[in-house]
Amino acid sequence: MSTYWGLHCVTCDESTDHFANHGEAAIRQYAQLRELICGGDDFDRLNIEIDGYSWMTGDLDDFWRRHAGHNIMLGNEYGESEAL
Ligand SMILES: [Zn+2]
Repeated sequence: MSTYWGLHCVTCDESTDHFANHGEAAIRQYAQLRELICGGDDFDRLNIEIDGYSWMTGDLDDFWRRHAGHNIMLGNEYGESEAL
């Protein structure tokens, strides 16, 4: 069974697309960069990719910045959440 995951902001009840099929590990890996991403646009000069989902990093960076300091979790297409 496919399970597509993305990010969910609990504080705002807002989610990204559910773009990563069984992609929890990759999203968690990228989430470790959250503080750097939210630190400023200089982060955009770095060429960092999520395995298999490099096309999504710009959208994720925007999401991290719009929800800086908020409670963000993994969320899937079935409405389930997991801690990052
Ligand atoms: Zn938020």
